[in-house]
Amino acid sequence: MSPIPRKVVIIGAGIAGLCAAVYARKCGYAVTVLEQHERPGGLATSWQRGAYTFEACLHWLLGSNQHDSMYTLWREVFDIDRMHFVYPEEWMRVESEDGKRLSIYSNLERLEAELLRHAPQDEAHIRHFVHAIRSLSDCPLPSQGGTWQHRFATGLQFLRRVPLLQSLSHITSEAYGKRFSDPLLRGFFGEGENAQLAVLALVFALAWNTNRNAGYPTGGSQAVIGPIAHNLQQLGGVLRTGASVKEILVEDDTAVGVTLDDGERIDADWVLSAADGHTTIYDLLDGRYVGPRMAHVYRTYKTFPSFLQVSLGVARDLSQQCGYVMRLLDSPLEVDPQTALHQIAFRLFHYDPTFAPVGKTAVTCTLPTRNVEYWSRLSEHDPQEYEAEKRRLANSVIALFDAWIPGVRDAIEMVDVSTPATVVRCTRNWQGSMEGWLLTPQTGIRPLPPTLPGLRRFLMIGQWVMPGGGLPSGLITARRAVRRMCRQDGIAFAPDEHEKTTNAAGDFPA
Ligand SMILES: Cc1cc2nc3c(=O)[nH]c(=O)nc-3n(C[C@H](O)[C@H](O)[C@H](O)COP(=O)(O)OP(=O)(O)OC[C@H]3O[C@@H](n4cnc5c(N)ncnc54)[C@H](O)[C@@H]3O)c2cc1C
Repeated sequence: MSPIPRKVVIIGAGIAGLCAAVYARKCGYAVTVLEQHERPGGLATSWQRGAYTFEACLHWLLGSNQHDSMYTLWREVFDIDRMHFVYPEEWMRVESEDGKRLSIYSNLERLEAELLRHAPQDEAHIRHFVHAIRSLSDCPLPSQGGTWQHRFATGLQFLRRVPLLQSLSHITSEAYGKRFSDPLLRGFFGEGENAQLAVLALVFALAWNTNRNAGYPTGGSQAVIGPIAHNLQQLGGVLRTGASVKEILVEDDTAVGVTLDDGERIDADWVLSAADGHTTIYDLLDGRYVGPRMAHVYRTYKTFPSFLQVSLGVARDLSQQCGYVMRLLDSPLEVDPQTALHQIAFRLFHYDPTFAPVGKTAVTCTLPTRNVEYWSRLSEHDPQEYEAEKRRLANSVIALFDAWIPGVRDAIEMVDVSTPATVVRCTRNWQGSMEGWLLTPQTGIRPLPPTLPGLRRFLMIGQWVMPGGGLPSGLITARRAVRRMCRQDGIAFAPDEHEKTTNAAGDFPA
């Protein structure tokens, strides 16, 4: 028998769990991924309703530019070369109900000119903002792969931007927006719950968009998740859906496996949790390995809000409209008893031909809320009222959509509403969070440790160890974790390895 521990159990088949599974298989581990939901993907998901596909996640995928180091990393887990990316010139539009418009262009010169034309009184702040985007647009993220010389060079470039990064990570988007006097520009930076993230996140998004490194992948989330899950199976890994982990088994402060809700026990030499952080620490491990740092984090860090999504199948070609439009509302939209929104955004997926038949358009409207309890309680205890509330909200959103594009109401042939109860059911994320921890002035950009104090052979990955979340957080934390496992086991980390694809899953309980 080989003295090398070789069995890995991964809890959760979101992007993080799937990426970790692919890396671990490439390094020769026998891998089983356990996913409580009926399909992989976690938050990175979409659903089919009639002829329409409604995307719940991807606006962009960081690393779509083949000259970027993130692209190289994506290539390690799936064939990104086959993907088709869309780069809209008009990235976003902000509109008021009285017809004023502000376009946020991808091209920086055009963006600067548009902002100055629209709000000349805000010139100094506009120049500062555009300068920040320009500075970060050629700032590589500290590289994970490549030669040490390459990593050193990108590290140096990154270090030069640290003062700017720090200043932008210490101010929320909402506070930054208040520098501007123009209402549309302020609206662009958001308000309330949704704008409590550091403005750095927004500047990075625009910077990556500018240099065509954050394109929208045609096919949305499924175009990423599907091929990674397929790759895992080709490599001989096991993906079990409908397999809910109840407990992480620990002996002598060492993780030795898991038990499922139905009592099945699965032994392993490593346990990786790619599931919700709070559940992992406080439920699956029963709060035995929290430590003061994590206790502080889970007490004080702010999560992204949860969300409802109103999705509309529209029998009309809407391609003359911008694909992403934020509408500033004269009177707030009441989402639930604790949530009133003064702005809502519509995504018109006319740029994704896989989402609707020719001449028709899939439209979504994401509505943030922190009132998870309200929606979960209705869903569980009062199904009739739950459906009535969903209908009320759908009607309100349709009315706002119709006020914007007169007559569009008559072309709506499909309506779907998901709520925070749906998010919790499908992903079990704490407080129904849409992206884990908010990147705030408090969190900064440093990831949390993947280990828990005193617990061996256990690692955490995914959005709950990297504030700001996003698909790249899954890829990066998964890669780091498997590298760490390999180092500890004396195994060469081989992310490009394609040879070790023989069926090692056979010796692992399926
Ligand atoms: C509206 C919206 C827009 C977004 N836009 C973007 C974007 O444009 N670009 C981008 O990069 N990111 C975006 N994101 C964020 C991104 O989707 C997430 O940050 C990322 O998918 C999180 O991946 P994860 O693997 O860390 O966690 P998750 O996706 O939450 O996966 C965790 C998995 O663990 C499973 N699980 C939980 N508990 C258990 C258990 N006990 N047993 C077994 N399985 C369990 C869950 O079912 C889930 O499948 C967006 C998210 C939302 C909601």
